[in-house]
Amino acid sequence: MYADLHLHTFFSDGTFSPEELAAHGQKNHLAALALTDHDTVEGCARMGAACQTAGIEFIPGTELTAEQDGNELHILGYFLDTQNSRLLSEITKFQSVRQNRIREMVARLNELDVPLKVDDVFALANCRSPGRPHVARAMVKAGLSGSLDEAFERYLKKGRPAWVPKMKMSAGEGIELIHQAGGLAVLAHPGLNRTDESIPALVEAGLDGIECFHTKHSTTTSEHYLEITDQYNLLVTGGSDCHGMSKGKPLIGTVKLPYTHVEKLKEAVARRSVESLNR
Ligand code: AMP
Ligand code: ZN
Ligand code: FE
Ligand code: FE
Repeated sequence: MYADLHLHTFFSDGTFSPEELAAHGQKNHLAALALTDHDTVEGCARMGAACQTAGIEFIPGTELTAEQDGNELHILGYFLDTQNSRLLSEITKFQSVRQNRIREMVARLNELDVPLKVDDVFALANCRSPGRPHVARAMVKAGLSGSLDEAFERYLKKGRPAWVPKMKMSAGEGIELIHQAGGLAVLAHPGLNRTDESIPALVEAGLDGIECFHTKHSTTTSEHYLEITDQYNLLVTGGSDCHGMSKGKPLIGTVKLPYTHVEKLKEAVARRSVESLNR
């Protein structure tokens, strides 16, 4: 039995609906799925219902953008109470930061003589949590870039002329926000962000686990992070980080997390709730 614990829908920058993701999960015989849209939990209700119909266990989650020691890192929250009022009010703030950032990126593109219309980006994104992939897709759609990769390489990647930094919460705040909503906090794809030196501070702040298995982690990278989880006694997660189709196929299910890790996650959440009752 396997799980895929890193998935995006069109409630952030993915292209699949929750129902499509659940259907692909079923085709891939996955036992458990987690939805981890950027800065939102909006898709979780539909995804939960679709997974139930498909006979798949569902874990409500999110992916927060945070910062530690001046580096951007992503923190996954799992088993969240999606009605938690502080979680909802904080992510709403980050959604408005995202919307303003889109306006700023488009203004920069316009200054660079790329005549992209901000309303076209918002119409294409059609969600509260828009991001750079929507800008790139709108550029391709308007014939202003040959491909998504080209849009990122020329304009949107960190350090490129239309890149706008995002206001972020500190990693400690992100971890605390997830914990107070009943969730587990997991460092996403550390192999992408080169954040090894931050791990001790994150553990100190209460980090629960590391995403060892990820589409962009080599076997060596996964093994490296498995060793770190051993060293700090952290939980292990993994997922495809599916944003839709990739090279003609849905990416969901291409990274398979053995289900035993899901059991360990559930035991950790159960312990956490007993501890909070005894407090
Ligand atoms: P944002 O949250 O707006 O900063 O956008 C981050 C998202 O952009 C990531 O989750 C990826 O889906 C996507 N992304 C980041 N870098 C690239 C890239 N070089 N090419 C294509 N997509 C990218
Ligand atoms: Zn994304
Ligand atoms: Fe990420
Ligand atoms: Fe992601």
